[in-house]
Amino acid sequence: MDKPKPVCQRKGDCCRSFPGWFGPGEVEKAAQHLGMEVDDFARKYLIIDGIEVEGHGWVDVFAPVRLNKHGLPAFPLLSRVDVFYRYFEGPCIFFKENGCILYPCHPIECRHYFCGQPEEENLSHQEIARMWIDGNA
Ligand code: SF4
Repeated sequence: MDKPKPVCQRKGDCCRSFPGWFGPGEVEKAAQHLGMEVDDFARKYLIIDGIEVEGHGWVDVFAPVRLNKHGLPAFPLLSRVDVFYRYFEGPCIFFKENGCILYPCHPIECRHYFCGQPEEENLSHQEIARMWIDGNA
C-alpha cells in the first residue's frame, strides 16, 4: 500500500526560521504572482545563496531574505550571503499573518518540506543546485 502523502499543516514553523530556495524559473512565476517585474521582485525580496557542487564549482541560487527583529531584511538585498546567513534564524520575508504570500508559487524547497518528514525526504541544497545547473525544477 502507498504511504499517504504528507500534507502541509500551514503552521509556518519553517517559514519563521529557514526560507526555502527557489528552483530555476520559479522567481519569474513568483514575481508574476505578485504582479511585479522580475528585477523589482528580486531587488525587494531576494538574496543569493549557493553551494559547491562537485564538478561544477560554486552554484548561485536565489532565496527569500530573512527578516531581523525589526521586521527588516537582515542582509543586504540581492547580495551574495555568507556563512553567517545559515546560522541566522529569522522569518522569511514572504511570511505574513495568513501564511505565505507566494502560495501556490512558493519555492521548490518549501513545496517539498513537511513537518516531521524524515530528513532524507526533504530536497537538499545539492539537489536544488543541480536543478540550476540543468536549468529545470
Ligand atoms: S517562501 Fe513561503 S513557504 Fe517558503 S519559507 Fe517563505 S513564507 Fe514559507
